Amino acid sequence: MIVAMQEKATEEQIDAVISAMEEAGVDVHRTTGEFQTILAGVGPTAALDLTKFEMLPGVMHVHRISAPYKLAGRAWRPEGTVIQFPNGATMGGQQVAIIAGPCAVESRKQIATIAECVKNAGGRFLRGGAFKPRTSPYSFQGLGIPGLEAMREAANDNGLAVVSEVMEIAQIEPMLPLVDCFQVGARSMQNFNLLRELGQVRKPILLKRGIAATVEELLLSSEYILSGGNYDVILCERGIRTYETSTRNTMDIAAIPVLKKLSHLPVIADPSHAMGRRDMVPAMAKAAVAAGADGLLIEIHPVADKAVSDAAQTLYLDQFETLVGELRVLAEAVGRTL
Ligand code: PEP
Ligand code: MN
Repeated sequence: MIVAMQEKATEEQIDAVISAMEEAGVDVHRTTGEFQTILAGVGPTAALDLTKFEMLPGVMHVHRISAPYKLAGRAWRPEGTVIQFPNGATMGGQQVAIIAGPCAVESRKQIATIAECVKNAGGRFLRGGAFKPRTSPYSFQGLGIPGLEAMREAANDNGLAVVSEVMEIAQIEPMLPLVDCFQVGARSMQNFNLLRELGQVRKPILLKRGIAATVEELLLSSEYILSGGNYDVILCERGIRTYETSTRNTMDIAAIPVLKKLSHLPVIADPSHAMGRRDMVPAMAKAAVAAGADGLLIEIHPVADKAVSDAAQTLYLDQFETLVGELRVLAEAVGRTL
């Protein structure tokens, strides 16, 4: 940590800050400039609340110089994490992963039709919610375990891996035999009890960025899972809430290269929830691949307009097929495969 004192800070104030840092177990290195004193602190600063030091008299700024997350940091695995799935697919490697499916599993027929389309397009992952986090308690809440069973069957028939959202700890056990990857939704990114429990699971976790979460908060949430010994975490940019209202959320494309630099974990993008409208999903899907995303999560449905949830952002199957064709060309241009 670096503490920059104000120009007029007194020796007494500087000493008080040094004492507070030392009390916190930090080694202090002082530089006294012509106008300003800088205190560099080395030690266990990850666990410290730095704003506490900012409140001390005479302090101008406090900066953290080492990341507060350790296991999620790039330095821990500089070569990057590649996650293997039982169907042979990977995430984080050369190949861009295509995870596609409906917002919600609605019926056996619906999920079977979609699974076949995903396979034919070359995708390896089938997504679909069986437990749905809906803004209104009166909206469709998902089919639950029977929905997941239908999805498992459709995925097996087409060699796909299953990705589905878990909303609470009690759902983990019944979901375990049916999914290949647990999705933690944006609304649950800071459900720390759930994250800790998923740290005990030995299946990959797709962790979505919260609607108002910073990149650092996303990485700290991943740390809850990693610190339990589950090292297979996928980070997902799905749009954040900003003052802009022309799209459902604001797709933070910049978060993709930022996360790739800061972390070794695979980074995917979800242009469907970011944009909220199907006419703009393909453009953002392509932008994400160009920006270095390791995969895309896309909502598709044979009768997209009539999907029971997220209809406006859901692609028709032919639109999805066209998009994957375009992505294939793009992936090659940026040194990836699809
Ligand atoms: C979803 O994937 O259908 C979903 C609810 O996503 P998010 O948590 O990003 O809103
Ligand atoms: Mn959805």
